[in-house]
Amino acid sequence: MSQEINQSVTAITGIGEETAEALTEIKVYTIKDLLEYFPYRYEDYRIRDLADVKHDEKVTIEGKVHSEPSLMYYGRKRSRLTVRVLVDRYLINVIFFNQPYLKNNMEINTPITVTGKWDQHRQTITANEMKKAGNSQKKEFEPVYHIKGSLTVKGLRRFIQLAISQFGANIEENLPQDLLMKYRLLNRRDALRALHFPLSETDVKQARRRFVYEEFLLFQIKMQALRKFERENSKGISQKFENNKLKEFISNLPFPLTNAQKRVINEILTDIKSPVRMNRLLQGDVGSGKTIVAAICLYATVNAGFQGALMVPTEILAEQHAESLREIFNPWNIQCELLTSSVKGKERRRILEKLELGEVDILIGTHALIQDEVVFKNLGLVITDEQHRFGVEQRRILREKGESPDVLFMTATPIPRTLAITVFGEMDVSIIDEMPAGRKVIETYWAKQDMLDRVLGFMEKELVKGRQAYVICPLIEESEKLDVQNAIDVHAILTNHFHNRYQVGLMHGRLSSSEKEEVMRAFSENERQVLVSTTVVEVGVNVPNATFMLIYDAERFGLSQLHQLRGRVGRGSEQSYCILLADPKTEVGKERMKIMSETNDGFVLSEKDLELRGPGDFFGRKQSGLPEFKIADMVHDYRALETARDDAAKLIQSNNFWHSDEYQPLRSYLQLSGILTGEKLD
Ligand code: ADP
Ligand code: MG
Repeated sequence: MSQEINQSVTAITGIGEETAEALTEIKVYTIKDLLEYFPYRYEDYRIRDLADVKHDEKVTIEGKVHSEPSLMYYGRKRSRLTVRVLVDRYLINVIFFNQPYLKNNMEINTPITVTGKWDQHRQTITANEMKKAGNSQKKEFEPVYHIKGSLTVKGLRRFIQLAISQFGANIEENLPQDLLMKYRLLNRRDALRALHFPLSETDVKQARRRFVYEEFLLFQIKMQALRKFERENSKGISQKFENNKLKEFISNLPFPLTNAQKRVINEILTDIKSPVRMNRLLQGDVGSGKTIVAAICLYATVNAGFQGALMVPTEILAEQHAESLREIFNPWNIQCELLTSSVKGKERRRILEKLELGEVDILIGTHALIQDEVVFKNLGLVITDEQHRFGVEQRRILREKGESPDVLFMTATPIPRTLAITVFGEMDVSIIDEMPAGRKVIETYWAKQDMLDRVLGFMEKELVKGRQAYVICPLIEESEKLDVQNAIDVHAILTNHFHNRYQVGLMHGRLSSSEKEEVMRAFSENERQVLVSTTVVEVGVNVPNATFMLIYDAERFGLSQLHQLRGRVGRGSEQSYCILLADPKTEVGKERMKIMSETNDGFVLSEKDLELRGPGDFFGRKQSGLPEFKIADMVHDYRALETARDDAAKLIQSNNFWHSDEYQPLRSYLQLSGILTGEKLD
């Protein structure tokens, strides 16, 4: 990297201390920062045909003044100038606010170019710029930058212009020549120039294409180098379990495994056996049978003489898992314990002691498992269920427990391929893409709010058959209090509605864990036929007799979340139903309701979700852990992301990458990111 452009921006003639100070607002300190401060959009000054322009879109047109303009003042400084303009065969109105002087340039039949917003209904452009046609030297595109403080877009354009003219020659290439050739990418210098000062749309496209690839390649090289070093440096445990015992265990399960389950089990067991430390993501739609996969892997670990841990996000889920795992493991004399924050005092001390002595084989619990006081004797395998609920930091702490346990992350929120190779780029991925045989598809319908009575009638038909129902209340993200209030209200309404015919339970986040437990128990034992709940039931809960779900204000949820919720029904042998109650106001909202009622495939939904909501929203703001790209878009530039990942993999494997001069810029990038230490470069 050239030293020149790493200087402060004040090295640019024409940029002084004051400007430099202003630029710190946008985190621009060096010349390089300035050059790499990319526009986020372009002002488009190309002449367009009005027939192609949508309502409210910004447009530049060319036409002829058709009538005497009329100027109206209201107040001293405010004015409106209206003129009829002939554009091709169309006669439209053009309005300028507060630019009365333009009137002088509007003789009848003068050709003019105006830029503004198109009102299709009124056939009017509210314009902010006008040029006499013909003498415009104007570019087709002008970059627009995010600005802060005293900065202006025009000013920024000028600073960047100065930077390029004085230091443009110092911009160095960082991508290897063969890749540039292979994808016909602009070199870095030309690309930067084109991005800031494009002459045409093609310029912008080419420049963008280059930087998208560059960003992705750098990112992928970083992820893959991380993964390579983690693999080489972390000594994992080679867990030698007895194959025949494992087979016996599997053949005693109440059902045969699906092919997909067999495949992922083999993938996981290979990691468990090998001395390389496992860092694997297991994806499988709701109901695809991940729990049993987890159980089989835990069995292998215990059989090899190690302890296993299963960590889940909620206490209810921990309790359910503990129960079903105990059932599976009891005949095999394997000790399972449950540890959550509500396990206290003597009981807690007993479990912790036994754990440290190695008398507990499998520990199941919530975050409580990663607290300092929890000490394992020889932890071999950690499995986390619904991993997206755990933050990056928790994942790290977890991996640091024990010597070097193998780690398996399980998720039922299918992560779109796009995100999987970015967020989890450092992991191996296994996918269960098959449902156990005989599963009935949940029928999903979208109903408007005013159909509630009919929906409740439908629900009662299921209840009459002896089935149970979930009612999910709207999610109010900003306020847990309102969230809870909503559930309480709906509970009151339904209790009244069903009178003494059916019992209605209530579940929400403000209940203590013992209260929650009691509510869940009452529902799963059919003492309550209806369960009104906030989204706390979202994850993992298993009541096979529940065949009906009503979701209020369904448009407020993300598709993946709706799919998760819906996964609470359809767990038994009976046909199940899910009703989405929603009056979406936007087209996107309607589209989402349609997609939900048309597909049961979690992967399809997650891709759609990502497309409709964007990556930031996908995991929720709090713990997205998503990488931020300056110019690339993980959804739309997905192809490039894949290409970059493959290229990065090849590079990392090749000897050349680590030694030849050509790759020096990429290596120094790794060094800057703290992944490579100096010595490793020999
Ligand atoms: P999830 O992947 O959502 O965690 P679960 O592990 O809870 O799914 O499994 C859902 C249900 O399917 C459970 O009742 C489980 O016993 C059952 N199941 C799992 N695997 C199979 C299989 N191969 N054949 C039949 N039923 C299965
Ligand atoms: Mg599960």
